Amino acid sequence: MEGAQAAEWDRRKQQELYALLKRRGFVWPSFEIYGGVAGFYDLGPLGSVLKDNIESAWKRTFLVEEGFMQVDCPSISPETVFRSSGHLEKFSDIMTRCVSCSAPFRADHLLSDAGIDAVDLTAEVMGTYLTEKDVRCPSCGGTLGPVEEFNLMFKTHIGPGTDRPAYLRPETAQSIFMDFSMLYRSNRERVPFGVAQLGKGYRNEISPRQGLLRQREFHMAEGEFFFDPLERTFPPFSTNRDRSVPLLMASDPERTVEMPLGRAVEDGIICSEVLAHFMGVTHRFVLSIGIPRAAMRFRQHGRKEMAHYANDCWDLEVLTSSGWVEMVGIADRSAYDLSQHARGSGCDLTALRRFTTPRTKEAVKVRTDKKVLGPLFKARAKEVDELLCGTGSAELERMRSSGTIQLVLKDGSSVNVPASAFSFETVTETVQGERYTPHVVEPSFGIDRLMVAVLEHSYVETASSPMKESDKDEDGDGGPYRVMRFLPSVAPIKCGVFPLLPKDNLPELALKLSSELRSAGLAVHYDPSGSIGRRYARMDEVGTPFALTVDHRTLEDGTVTIRDRDTGEQRRLRSSDAARKVLDLVQCSTAFSDL
Ligand code: AMP
Repeated sequence: MEGAQAAEWDRRKQQELYALLKRRGFVWPSFEIYGGVAGFYDLGPLGSVLKDNIESAWKRTFLVEEGFMQVDCPSISPETVFRSSGHLEKFSDIMTRCVSCSAPFRADHLLSDAGIDAVDLTAEVMGTYLTEKDVRCPSCGGTLGPVEEFNLMFKTHIGPGTDRPAYLRPETAQSIFMDFSMLYRSNRERVPFGVAQLGKGYRNEISPRQGLLRQREFHMAEGEFFFDPLERTFPPFSTNRDRSVPLLMASDPERTVEMPLGRAVEDGIICSEVLAHFMGVTHRFVLSIGIPRAAMRFRQHGRKEMAHYANDCWDLEVLTSSGWVEMVGIADRSAYDLSQHARGSGCDLTALRRFTTPRTKEAVKVRTDKKVLGPLFKARAKEVDELLCGTGSAELERMRSSGTIQLVLKDGSSVNVPASAFSFETVTETVQGERYTPHVVEPSFGIDRLMVAVLEHSYVETASSPMKESDKDEDGDGGPYRVMRFLPSVAPIKCGVFPLLPKDNLPELALKLSSELRSAGLAVHYDPSGSIGRRYARMDEVGTPFALTVDHRTLEDGTVTIRDRDTGEQRRLRSSDAARKVLDLVQCSTAFSDL
């Protein structure tokens, strides 16, 4: 936590926000009737829609604007997958337990609370530091036990018995790597292309204490962009070259520098145009959901923090009530993932680098003589034939000159093949290109963290409350008036619809109006009773950008009042135009002042 900046976030406001999120149905701890379990949260009616709206904005950016293909794969994968990916061996945190109360802690978090940078320290060194600094259990002050590695994946088994171990995915990315060949074919065997997956990730965090920011089951949205590392330029980068972003470089981690992405690539600060492009796309997306420009920065991983196979890695961080928090990790993962799965599965996960004009090359082919193989090997002749062709001319030539041509069949038996069973032939082949393993840039988003950032940055104090003094008394609060200023695109409810009074046909007209808005695709909240000021205030509290009120003038001239959440300004418009106008406002194609 960064002292001065975190202090800006008033504690009381934060507590109020979290109470509001529970009270108004955004989010609350799961399993509460059984006492709750740390790291699990339920999204309520408004929270689920807020999350969906953030995901829709993400899909618009990555699927529509950037043209990524979407996949939807299982959350459970067999152990072999994670052996290849490296998660089985490396996806661990270092843990220690209190000897007195048994509470588990992450050793690196305890050390960083004690002022020691624990990035990349081995378990052994962490243990030594904990003892030397006499770090104690934060819960009861007891002595801490030995440190040990704890793998963060949740383990299970496929089917009955325990012979098919499996894990809940800690990220959605691995299925995209495993499906590379299918996706490459779907893309007509052309690279580059991007693939996206949204879904849950599961991590058995040792002691999650940061609320929604560190959960054991959370929503992810990941993109894997496959490209040829020999291509030095990336034409789509032209859309982001001039975008100025705040960079906190590994070489100078104390100072954030604002600079255009194009310059950062030219100066060798960001490793490639592809990586810089997706930093630009991420910046644009995070702005589009309402996080202020000044509250974000890109922090580069230092060599120690970065995986050995990665070329470069940047986290998009947002300033929250818990300080700067990683929302998105954007990494150039080189050819690591595809190479690992190719090795683990024995499958070809390469692409073709096409030559500009096809080339010809001479190749020596094995030609078998079936008239010799048939009588000699009978039922096994086909298998021997295939083995000869698959062995390759160089190896057969070597065997022939050593005097024995012995092949091992599938059943383990071996056969001696006479030299007369095959010959060699030089042929001229046309070659379209060469095979290579594509590199990957991965932007990986934590949707719940983005939701926290959107909520915290939308929750603001305003001067004018729509409530009269009597309304406030009724509610028993005399505190500052706070509003959730969601952008219309992410707001769970787009418009409140109210009859001014519950009589004189006003409710019927208001219900008709809400059904017109719903038919136009707008999420509406209809509220028939209570003081109008309080009804506006309830909508402000959950971030509803507009409200329509049907009153006695509606009966005379067919107009209704529309109120703008952010200014409290009210205008009249024809009831018959209301659905279209509210839709325009929500899509930002009309400004309230132009109504
Ligand atoms: P990572 O693969 O660790 O870079 O995680 C990708 C993104 O997932 C991060 O940038 C976070 O936004 C999010 N994330 C990671 N761990 C958690 C967690 N325990 N709870 C909520 N979000 C998380």
